[in-house]
Amino acid sequence: MVNYCMYKKTSPQGKLFGIETQLSSSLRSRLESSWAHLFRLEILPILLKNEDRYALLYGTTGRPNFSVARLVGLCLLQEWNNLSDQEALDAFSFDIRWRYALDVGEEEDYLSRRSLVEFRRRLTAKDPEMKLIRGVFDNVRDSAIKKLGLSSANQRLDSTLVVSNIRIRGRLTLFSNTLDLFLKSLNEEQLSRVPEAIRDWHAAEPEGWFGLGLAEQRVKVQELAQYVYELMLLFEKDEKLSALEPYQLLKRLFSEQCEPSSDEQSSKVQVKKKTEGATLQSPYDPDASYGHKGGGYSLHISETCSNAKAEMITDFEVHGAARSDKGKALSVVERLDAAGLKPGILFADGGYPSVPSAFKVAEQGVEFMAPVNRVRLGDDVVGRDLFQFDSKGLATRCPMGHAPIDHRIMSGNNTARRSLHAIFNGKTCRSCAMLDRCPVRAPNHRDKGCQARDTVGNFRLEITPELRLRDEMYAVQQTTEWKDRYKIRAGIEATHSELKRAHGIGRLRVRRWAKVCFAVACKVTACNIKRWVRAYAALKRLLQGCISSVCVRLNVFLVEIVSASFLKKFIFATAATQRGAAIDPFRKGACFSGITS
Ligand code: SF4
Repeated sequence: MVNYCMYKKTSPQGKLFGIETQLSSSLRSRLESSWAHLFRLEILPILLKNEDRYALLYGTTGRPNFSVARLVGLCLLQEWNNLSDQEALDAFSFDIRWRYALDVGEEEDYLSRRSLVEFRRRLTAKDPEMKLIRGVFDNVRDSAIKKLGLSSANQRLDSTLVVSNIRIRGRLTLFSNTLDLFLKSLNEEQLSRVPEAIRDWHAAEPEGWFGLGLAEQRVKVQELAQYVYELMLLFEKDEKLSALEPYQLLKRLFSEQCEPSSDEQSSKVQVKKKTEGATLQSPYDPDASYGHKGGGYSLHISETCSNAKAEMITDFEVHGAARSDKGKALSVVERLDAAGLKPGILFADGGYPSVPSAFKVAEQGVEFMAPVNRVRLGDDVVGRDLFQFDSKGLATRCPMGHAPIDHRIMSGNNTARRSLHAIFNGKTCRSCAMLDRCPVRAPNHRDKGCQARDTVGNFRLEITPELRLRDEMYAVQQTTEWKDRYKIRAGIEATHSELKRAHGIGRLRVRRWAKVCFAVACKVTACNIKRWVRAYAALKRLLQGCISSVCVRLNVFLVEIVSASFLKKFIFATAATQRGAAIDPFRKGACFSGITS
């Protein structure tokens, strides 16, 4: 990429006649009590200080760039207000608060849409991992926490779905869009090699399936899958074309959704009944995938909790929606630790803890408060915590006080994985009053519908350390005390709601991971700035309240002194004079309303 733009640092020199000097005193006072004042006072210096890190986006020759600090500031304000590019540029040009917040001088009052788009394009090309904008988030978060004196000892974690600018409408649209994208990328010569049937379909009906019934749609998908296969074979030897993204998407779609016919002689393909993993959802955003919350991306957010003044978002992570939340808490704790914000207690929902990951989080010295799942076991079934074990991890007594007759390595429930089991006497278990509430497993060899008490053979219980820890955690989590402490986790749902309602994080205007990550980073940073502004305003109000209360008391005191009778004044002054000559005449004069000795 040729750089026709040269990096130039923003001049640190302040404007002699800034925009605020053109306002009346009352308007200036309103401006200084708005969000724009804190932005200019706290955020702009952070952006200016870290501006040099963006030099890698530019060349060393050509015309100088527009101030990077102001461009990043503009992006933050744009995502704060969830504006389109044009709306943000209009606000930049015409809104005095924006101009004051970004300290824009007359020479920089115009920014073209192209410059803004080009800045983001350079950023995604040169910094695809979005480390630069992550640095802005980190710096703002650290400053806010430090200046507001917030504690990061208690934090909560949760995830939500973020949808990029794509439509997810089933397999037929997916096949149709991917084929359409590929055919549009061909030049005339390549297009002439495409079979006539595919060209006719492309010319007539890439979207012409609307209103088809389910059976007709299935036939259509089969037809398009065949087209995909034919095109793959036709161009697979064209090295240049097959290296391009449209061909790669075609190939990915085929591998995820189709399989060659079982008949080796046949060139027919079969559409898979079910797909698995992070499959392509739209050719316009190959990074988006489908998870249990829907199609798009998963956003993990952690924030402080239990502070009175404000809560700050401390960490975020974006990835395809197909990836599970399980085990994510560990990477969040590691990042927070690196930032010096490791929590003492981390609250999360039941989607996060797998027993091994809960183990590892606990090893980091963090109390991980998240409900564990016992899959299909009923609430009345007792856990392994009621069994007794020796130091080697072998069972010694069941809840009814019976010792196991043996220990064996056997395959677990519904898995080929082999693990340690305690074997209990079948006769004892079948006659036990607690059998319905005991986690022991009846013998496998029995007819369908046969009850545990009607079986023949011994009972067994899997006793791995993970299952024992899970049952211990589950038992603790049933207590009222644990539930009361855990209530604070629910507060993070309000943060998701705030991000979606006020900042539009649920439906973004961009596609692909890097741009989605940039937009999300700007929105969560903007959310932190907004919270900082609110806390700052509340502190200011509190301070003003204290000062005015002191002033009122002082005023009342002075009025009382002035309105006191001459005799009282005389006695008061005489007493004061007698109390000490140490009081200097100036102070006496000031305090006693002109009465001097
Ligand atoms: S069912 Fe068997 S293992 Fe369970 S408590 Fe009764 S005797 Fe003990």
